[in-house]
Amino acid sequence: MQNSSAKLAIVNNNTFEATKVVNLHHYDLSSALQTTLEFNELIAIFSGKIESMIPHSAYAYANVEFGLEIKSGVFTKHSCSYALKVEEQGLGELTLMRNHRFNDAEIKLLETLLCCLIYPLKNATLFQQALKLAYTDPLTQAKNRACFNDILKREINLAIRHKKNLSIIFIDIDHFKAINDNYGHECGDVALISVAKRIKESLRRSDILFRIGGEEFVVLLSDTDIDGAQLLAERICKSIERHSLAYDMTVIKLTASLGVSMLRSGDTTDTLVKRADSAMYKAKKSGRNQVALN
Ligand code: GH3
Ligand code: MG
Ligand code: MG
Repeated sequence: MQNSSAKLAIVNNNTFEATKVVNLHHYDLSSALQTTLEFNELIAIFSGKIESMIPHSAYAYANVEFGLEIKSGVFTKHSCSYALKVEEQGLGELTLMRNHRFNDAEIKLLETLLCCLIYPLKNATLFQQALKLAYTDPLTQAKNRACFNDILKREINLAIRHKKNLSIIFIDIDHFKAINDNYGHECGDVALISVAKRIKESLRRSDILFRIGGEEFVVLLSDTDIDGAQLLAERICKSIERHSLAYDMTVIKLTASLGVSMLRSGDTTDTLVKRADSAMYKAKKSGRNQVALN
């Protein structure tokens, strides 16, 4: 009898210690996850903090809403995946990988640790949704001028630091005022949506489209020299010209003038944009519906 109660006491003690350890890990993990609202940082922190409890060689995180696919580590045969969700809000899918199976105890522990990740991920989702809204032009779904100012500054710094090229294309629709005057503002809006679509179709994933004014767009091309940017500008120019706009019973021809420029040493955001803008005016003066460099 005495023996069994002693045993029980030890078991209780072990259980208590184990719970305490898990709780401490939860606390440490939760605190660390409160330090950021960036998806990639959240997932990296989560992976790092659980590594000692659930060893894994790689992780992947996909979030369709934000077009994210984050991968890190050595991808191996065994994996466990979770589609994360809270209150009907999808929060992406997390996968852990390693070269031997995850056992039941590890899976159970992972599931309790994932509870710490859910609300930080939800907060990140709300923050990123708000940011997206504040940075998006509602008409064309291109990024807006406020976003352009922030991203251009960041991209110039990155290009200088990593000694990479950076080019921009300035795009202005030709005789756009006449479209508004002849067919109405609503038709002008349809034309803007159509031109933004043509531009987007021509871009790579890393290129970013901004609507920076009424009928003015800019494309930012990281890691691209002037020749690459010119080639893309020619493709955009032709695509806009090829796709006439069908509005009511009328077919409206759309064209644009494009200016291309590449980052030079000593450039600021202003000097780079001004050069691309003056290249665009060169294209206007030379007869519109064409590309010019500066
Ligand atoms: P150019 O070939 O020299 O560029 O001629 P343009 O008529 O395109 O240039 P201008 O700058 O004279 O006119 C731009 C027009 O864009 C003026 C304005 O009516 C129109 N605009 C600006 N913002 C919007 C918008 O959000 N929707 C619509 N429908 N029109 C807009
Ligand atoms: Mg203009
Ligand atoms: Mg114009």
